[in-house]
Amino acid sequence: MFAAGFYIPAAIIRRMKTSEFSGFYKLGVSGRAREVAEFAGLSPEEEKALQSFSPLDAATADRMIENVVGCMPLPLGIAVNFRINGKDYLVPMAIEEPSVVAAASNSAKMARAKGGFTARAMPPLMIGQMQVIGLKDVEGAVRRVLAEKKRLLELANACDPVLVKFGGGARDVEARVIETNAGKMLIVHLIVDVRDAMGANAVNTMCESLAAPVEEITGGNVLLKILTNLANMRTVKASATFAKEALGGEDAVDRIVLAYQFAANDIFRATTHNKGIMNGVDAVVLATGNDWRAVEAGAHAFASITGRYKPLTIFWKNSDGDLEGVLEMPLAVGLVGGATKTHPVAKLAVKILGVKTAGELAEVIASVGLAQNLAAIRALATEGIQRGHMGLHARNIAIAAGATGELIDKVAARMVEERKVRADRAKEILDELVKR
Ligand code: NAD
Repeated sequence: MFAAGFYIPAAIIRRMKTSEFSGFYKLGVSGRAREVAEFAGLSPEEEKALQSFSPLDAATADRMIENVVGCMPLPLGIAVNFRINGKDYLVPMAIEEPSVVAAASNSAKMARAKGGFTARAMPPLMIGQMQVIGLKDVEGAVRRVLAEKKRLLELANACDPVLVKFGGGARDVEARVIETNAGKMLIVHLIVDVRDAMGANAVNTMCESLAAPVEEITGGNVLLKILTNLANMRTVKASATFAKEALGGEDAVDRIVLAYQFAANDIFRATTHNKGIMNGVDAVVLATGNDWRAVEAGAHAFASITGRYKPLTIFWKNSDGDLEGVLEMPLAVGLVGGATKTHPVAKLAVKILGVKTAGELAEVIASVGLAQNLAAIRALATEGIQRGHMGLHARNIAIAAGATGELIDKVAARMVEERKVRADRAKEILDELVKR
């Protein structure tokens, strides 16, 4: 479009930025890091840090948890081709399982042909719980708590002026009664807009500060005061259309819909279906230093919120014969707090993503979850998952059997060709090759 030597303004270069790559995997570690640095505008130091395979120093690690003796590094890969809400993203994923990053990139390419993903995060509302026990008149306590809502919200907000300054803070108080074997209890919910935080510390601090006033209002004792990981007010929806041509024809679309129906009506299948989603979700959550246990707990509770455990995605065939997919799940992730601001790789991951709010991060993660799910059920419903998976898995088996350098690929290729991807066979092939 521009003649040679023509000046292209920086703003236009930024707008032209694309996450679409073919052959990204062929570039080698430093070639890939170069592309990522270019895309994300990393400094030379950051580009170098990205390729550091032990970036966490002892002092930082020792500050993060207790009793530190070392580190457990995981590979950091980049999923390419993602376009979400019209913006291109390179997505960092930290994961030990082969084929996840490739599968996400592949699905993102398929979605791209129809405009990519559309995603929308709900406002970042988290729920804190207070358990009130020892009440004589539980129903009366519900009424008294609700009557004091305004004061409780003011007290909660007084303990986090920073959050309030950023536009967040306590928004609402709810109260209900639960019946237990130990008698009736009053459960008070504090609803907090946590802005760009995951929110656990923010919400827990507020709940602890409300314990005394709630005891004074109700005449009971406040036992537990902690957030719930069932962040059902903080859900994200991601959707995409996958063209039938990209998926391998209308027959492939029909097979994927049938595979989805299996998951929608069978808890054993639904569990594995959702595990496939979490392959993508957790890898980005982990890469950005977020709390993947919190996300996991919330995802599975949300999957069973109707009383029946269900898939987090829905797939159907549209009137053009293309596949429509939608994922909805809670995603309590943040850009401040936790390890996001302290772990050097998490900081780089956030910079590579270029996300500006926790909501935008959640929208990316949900899109990756949908992409990952589509890749898995497409493989299962068409060629079977092992063909693609075993090729990559074979390399791990070869390494475990003792192969090094170029022997890894040779041993792996032989096992795949023979369709015997096993540790004993890897050892035999390796011995044979070494003897030659
Ligand atoms: P945090 O307390 O470290 O940071 C949040 C605080 O940062 C806010 O309270 C606010 O004061 C400040 N802040 C500055 N800029 C902000 C902005 N733009 N938006 C929002 N807040 C801003 O972190 P957190 O997110 O409250 O807690 C997350 C950590 O809590 C994670 O490490 C998680 O593992 C841990 N945790 C989880 C659980 C659980 O999931 N059940 C329980 C306890 C702790």
